[in-house]
Amino acid sequence: MRGLPAICGGEPVRQEFLPYARQSVDESDIAAVVEVLCSPFLTTGPKIQEFEQKFADYVGAKYAVAVATGTAALHAAVFAAGINPRDEVITTPMTFAASANCVLYQGGRVVFADIDPQTYNIDPEDIARKITERTKAIIPVDYTGQPARLDVIKKIAAEFNLPVIEDAAHALGAAYQGQKVGSISDLTTFSFHPVKHITTGEGGMVTTNDPGLYERLLLFRNHGITRDKRLLMEDHGLWYYEQQALGYNYRITDFQAALGISQLAKSEMFLAVRRRYAGIYNEAFKDLPGVIVPWQAEDARSSWHLYVLQLELEKLKAGRKEIFEAMLAENIGVNVHYIPVYLHPYYQSHGYRPGLCPEAEKLYERMLTLPLFPGMTEGDVRDVIEAVSKVVTYFSI
Ligand SMILES: *Cc1c(COP(=O)(O)O)cnc(C)c1O
Repeated sequence: MRGLPAICGGEPVRQEFLPYARQSVDESDIAAVVEVLCSPFLTTGPKIQEFEQKFADYVGAKYAVAVATGTAALHAAVFAAGINPRDEVITTPMTFAASANCVLYQGGRVVFADIDPQTYNIDPEDIARKITERTKAIIPVDYTGQPARLDVIKKIAAEFNLPVIEDAAHALGAAYQGQKVGSISDLTTFSFHPVKHITTGEGGMVTTNDPGLYERLLLFRNHGITRDKRLLMEDHGLWYYEQQALGYNYRITDFQAALGISQLAKSEMFLAVRRRYAGIYNEAFKDLPGVIVPWQAEDARSSWHLYVLQLELEKLKAGRKEIFEAMLAENIGVNVHYIPVYLHPYYQSHGYRPGLCPEAEKLYERMLTLPLFPGMTEGDVRDVIEAVSKVVTYFSI
């Protein structure tokens, strides 16, 4: 996708390509991993519990369970919530496919509720409209790092006795009405993919305050097998264990957990840089005709996983496609988050049709993700601002 010929004239703003996201791994991270590689435990060792404890403390949750990926975290949460074949689960289409796929893994049916055009998060009123007697859970996503309307969603969930599984893959370190994300919903899931706030290569976490859900998460991560004497149905001896449910091998390794511990210690520093750069973008773009900066709720604190600019197509003589290509020609690694999930061929072949969530589809045509990660320099941020101004001005009516 690099090296497109100039579209808006002149030299490209940058000579070197700037990606939209990249991990920050330093010497202390490397040392932490190497130490575990030289220890007796590569997996199922002491680093797992240490990572879980530190993570739970950081987000203010009672329990945390580390797993192999953010997708495994969602799958484990859906299992723990007791989703069975044909149960309906409501989520947003403005997310990565995994937020919906996790329901299908357990045989459930995904029901998409539209987004609020101001916050881009799932619209609680549309959730309420889409609840039926088969609805068994709600999966809000804290899109871009801005928490969903969790108070309203929790109220609706309580009324119908539904668990809330919060997909917080974007929202490590975010807060809602003074409370840290990870301590608010029945189950909250995180991802440690390299583009996310902290990384373990691949990795994920589920947090909960409920001891029963915690037991189910542990069971699911390890094939459905338990050795816990309190949970065994029979006891044949010290070697004895039981597979009590159909789980998976969703374990994470100890060297990944060591990387996670080392990364977590830098989380507040990473967040401060993301918030500062987002503030610089907001200031630079708020009066630029042709773009709309991301609206922020006053009672929430975003963790700024993504900076998504909305294009005011009414004021531009080009669509998102042309503007996307023009930004790449300036060597700026823009992206699009997301193609509404149900528009993918897999979902289309399962009966979902365009037009289901008009606000999400409209936003999809108008959105552009700009580079934002802690390893960027202020010079990089200025390059992005210069390129956006150049391209948007070039295509202005
Ligand atoms: C990244 C992401 C996931 C999946 O996480 P993986 O670690 O890549 O499996 C799920 N939901 C959202 C919203 C994400 O951004």
